Amino acid sequence: MNNLSDKHKQVLQCAIDIYGREAQRKMIIEEMAELTKAICKEDRASKAFNAKKSAMLEAENAVIEEMADVQIMLWQMHLMYPDCNNYIDKKIDRLAGRLGINKQEPSETQSPSELMKLLSTAAFLGRSLRNAE
Ligand SMILES: [Mg+2]
Repeated sequence: MNNLSDKHKQVLQCAIDIYGREAQRKMIIEEMAELTKAICKEDRASKAFNAKKSAMLEAENAVIEEMADVQIMLWQMHLMYPDCNNYIDKKIDRLAGRLGINKQEPSETQSPSELMKLLSTAAFLGRSLRNAE
């Protein structure tokens, strides 16, 4: 949320103001369901007996597109529930503890968004390795 430009925040707040909180709260449920479905389809596409690269790429792109929809709705939820940031820091610290990631020197401390980039990179590498098999 902190990485979001003022222009993007303005657009998202405008969506909340125009459509209303209740509509946007329901919209995130819809978008999460679409992401769930896209993930299931990607999983099925990759495990198909005669899995085709084009179908797998199409399924992956659908996941990425739905992730964008969910992220946009999550940012709107952040605007509606700004206290979420406190939980994010605590939960990522807890995750780091579970992963055995030691506390680092202040100059090397990773922000939640930096950790998310690392996790995304790890997920991408995992997918690449699976696709190469
Ligand atoms: Mg969608």
